[in-house]
Amino acid sequence: MQPFVLIAEDEHSLVELLSYNLEAEGFRVDAVMDGSEVMARLDEELPDLLLLDWMLPNLSGIEICRQIRRKTDFRNLPVVMLTARGAEDDRIRGLDAGADDYVPKPFSVNELMARLRAVLRRTRPILAEQRIVRGAIELDLGTHKVTRNGEEVHLGPTEFRLLQHFMEHAGRVQSRGQLLDAVWGRDAEVEERTVDVHIRRLRKAMNDGDAPDIIRTVRSAGYAFEAPSP
Ligand code: CA
Repeated sequence: MQPFVLIAEDEHSLVELLSYNLEAEGFRVDAVMDGSEVMARLDEELPDLLLLDWMLPNLSGIEICRQIRRKTDFRNLPVVMLTARGAEDDRIRGLDAGADDYVPKPFSVNELMARLRAVLRRTRPILAEQRIVRGAIELDLGTHKVTRNGEEVHLGPTEFRLLQHFMEHAGRVQSRGQLLDAVWGRDAEVEERTVDVHIRRLRKAMNDGDAPDIIRTVRSAGYAFEAPSP
C-alpha cells in the first residue's frame, strides 16, 4: 500500500519539489494551496500524513492544526509543520498546537524526508515496515534488508536506494539524470558517471550466475530494472 501524503503549501515550486521527492520514495501525493480548503480535503480522504505550511492564505497552518486536533476523526493524523519562522517560541507554538514535528525553512529535502519517515515510523509503524517485492527480489524498507530467492544480499546505502528506486519503477527506463535526482537528491553535486559506478556495484551484488541481468542497459537512454523470476 502506498502511503498518502497531503501537502498544504501555497508556494508552487516547493509543492513541486516535495511532490517529486515524495513520489520518488513511493508516496502518493496531493496538494492543497489554500488554508480554507484543507479541512474539506481531509474530510474527503484522510492522508497518512499532512505536511502543513504555517503561512497559508485564508487560514493559517497553526489554526488548521488546532482544528485537526479538536476533531475526533483527525486527532491521530500525523502532522509535520513547515515554516519560514525558525524562532524557538514559534517551534514551541507549533508543537503546542499539536504538530508531530516542525521543520523550519529553508530545509534540506533529505532531512525533511528523514523527519517524515521518522514521524511515520512512530505513528504508522505498518507503513514504515513496508516491503517491496518484485519477482525473486524482496526489499524491506524498515530493516533495509534485501533478499534474492530468500537469501540475504548485502548492499551499501546508495545501492539500496538505487535498487529501491528501480523496484518502484520496475520496467521503466530511468535516465542517469533521473537516478541522480532520485537517489542523490536534486542539489547534489554528483557526476553522471558516478551513477554507472553504483550500478556496477549493484549488479555485482544482486546478479545471480547466468540468470539475466536485473538492470538492463538501454543505449543512450539509461537503465531499467527487470524483475527476475523466482
Ligand atoms: Ca506559505
